[in-house]
Formats: sequence, C-alpha cells, structure tokens
Amino acid sequence: MSGKRDYYEVLGVQRTADEREIKSAYRKLALKYHPDRNPNDPEAEKVFRECAEAYEVLSDSQKRVLYDRGGHEGLKSGGFSGFQGDIGDIFSSFGDIFAEFFGGSAFGGSGGGRRPMVGADQGINLQIELKEAVTGATRTVEVARFVCCNDCGGTGADGGELISCQVCGGRGQVVQGRGGFMIATTCRACGGAGQTPRRACSTCGGEGQIEEQRPLSIRVPPGVDSGTRMRVQGRGHGGANGGPPGDLYVRILVEDHPSYVRNGPDLHCELAIDFPTACLGGNAEVPQIVEGSWPVDIPAGTQPGDVIRISGGGMPRMDSRQPGDLLVHLTVDVPRHLSDDQRKTIEALQPTLAIEPTISSGQNERRETKSRKRKGGGFFDRIRDALEGD
Ligand SMILES: [Zn+2]
Ligand SMILES: [Zn+2]
Repeated sequence: MSGKRDYYEVLGVQRTADEREIKSAYRKLALKYHPDRNPNDPEAEKVFRECAEAYEVLSDSQKRVLYDRGGHEGLKSGGFSGFQGDIGDIFSSFGDIFAEFFGGSAFGGSGGGRRPMVGADQGINLQIELKEAVTGATRTVEVARFVCCNDCGGTGADGGELISCQVCGGRGQVVQGRGGFMIATTCRACGGAGQTPRRACSTCGGEGQIEEQRPLSIRVPPGVDSGTRMRVQGRGHGGANGGPPGDLYVRILVEDHPSYVRNGPDLHCELAIDFPTACLGGNAEVPQIVEGSWPVDIPAGTQPGDVIRISGGGMPRMDSRQPGDLLVHLTVDVPRHLSDDQRKTIEALQPTLAIEPTISSGQNERRETKSRKRKGGGFFDRIRDALEGD
C-alpha cells in the first residue's frame, strides 16, 4: 500500500470543507512550508509537496469526487497518478494561486529591482469524449489569466508614478535578526523593487495586473489519453516589467465510454453471443466508437471468457505508429426462459452433451480468475481488475 496520508488530514480540513476553506488552509500551509522560507529543509519540502498534491486533488471537483469515493486507489483507477513532478512543476501548475499569495508575478524573483520577469505558467484540465480521442478534436475554452495593466504599465502606480519604498528605503531588502543571525529578505512592501506607487492605479487596484478572459482554441490530436499534457506557449499569465508571458498547460481527461475500456492504445469490450453460436461458430459485429463496425469471426466451441483480438482495432497513437488492438471478450448468453419447444429440443440434447461436473485445481488460471471475478462487479470492473494485475 502507498502509506499516503489522507488529503483532508494533510490540509487539516473537514471532509465537508468547501472550496474556500480548502484554498485558505492550503494557502496557510504553503506559505509556512514554502522552500523559499525553509531553505535546505527536506522535511519542509516534503510537507510542501504533500500539501500541493492534496490541494491539487481537493480543489478539483472531479478528482475530489473520485478521492471521496475510493481514496488514493480511487484516484488511480480514475486515471490520476498523483503528483509526480518536481517542485518546479508544482509551481507552474499553481502559478495562479502562488501569484496570488506572493503578489503579482513576483514569484521566483528575489529582489533586484524591476527587471523583466517571465509570467507564471498556468494549467487547465480539458475533458473530452473517447470518440474525440479517436478522431482528434478542436475545442474552444475560456481561459482566465493575469496580464499587465496597460494603464500603469504594470507598475500598479497611478500614472506610473513611483516613489522610493518607505519600508526598505529603496534597497528592496530588509535585514532582520533571527535566532542570532542577520538575515536579508526581500521587502514585502515593494516586492523587492525598492519603489512603490505614489497612488495605486485605479484600473488594476495597484496590482499591476488585470484579469483577462479570452477564448482559446485547442487542437487535441488523435490518440491522446488521460493525463496527456499539452503546452500552449505564451498563453500563461502575463510577464512583469516587459517580460514574456508564461505558458499554458492543458491536461487532457478522457471520459469513460459506456461500452469500451481503454488500456493505453488497446480497447476492450464485451460481446454476448448465444449458446448455439458458441457451439457452432458464426459471425458477429462490434460497433466502432466513431462509425462502422468490426466483423468478428466466432470459432466453433467458443468458451465464455475467450478473447478475440482485432489487430489495429484500438486507439490511434499520437506518434502515428500502428493503432492499438481491440480485445473482444466473449460471454455466452444462457436463456433464462425457454418455450416448450426449446425445452424439448435441449432436453433431447442433454444426454449427448452431459459432462461429469468437475472442479479445477486452477490449472487454467485465466478462466479461473474470470469466473471468480464474474461474481462481483460488472464487465468494466473485471477488465480494470485484470489490467491492474498486469
Ligand atoms: Zn521596499
Ligand atoms: Zn494598473
């Protein structure tokens, strides 16, 4: 088991906490354990990461539902693998919230006046249907981001008029005694710039940035899977002091399909055939996700649980190699009700088909597993279980 702490426990909030409470709890912890404040403290970094991961999940309604339902495992089976990036990734995914904590895009800058700074990256999730993952799609999304306020040139000062910072005397740093050491830290009042507005700009309220919402067209290539991250250059938050904007990261979430389960490039589905077809063999068709259907040859003597592989019937690949396969799992439909004629015919067959009921020692591992799994859960649960066992 993962031994991971409960996300609610990590953030110290109730399971019923609303969005605002979660954000506020995270903000407090992130400020406390932020690596800039705890240099060379691996323990603090660990807690910081834990908080970021917990916040990533609990602030996202979709992930939170999965987590509430099935805990860490529930998230995993929903296609979220948890946080794997390094600290830099955490910053870029949470560029907006950190920008909010630390004031503008000052994040990453440690004093040094008003030099150009790259804007923060930001991330959004884009949910698409499995069908769109087959064909590719173009989606328009509204993306909110902070850009430089034109009225004050990003200075936050009315008319761009700045005066020397009163707190640090224009040095951009303040020196404090802490535990016998003198430590120079970035001046909070001016963000290290050494200057502050004479009067706040009325357009941006002194922030130097305004929120802008613009539609953005995103082209999703065929073959994308949940978790695929696409970068849209220059569509993150605006830079400061003439710096370039950050990037936008779009994380794809592919919805579950009612008939297909995806495993990487391969697709799995279940096909029910009747008892005579299982005995004698025959033909069937499996509808494709977009349009058309695959012909399936059912061999005589098909057993419940047999799998027919249709090469190339799976998902396209983003690197345009041969598409994945379609695995058709066969079940045999046993009639629940028989007409008198059917009953008579089957009764007539019974003596010739009868076998001595036998138990198995598990020699046929594959079938044994399937028949045991059959008891609980539907087809998708069984497929997912089987895939996890890979
Ligand atoms: Zn200052
Ligand atoms: Zn302004």
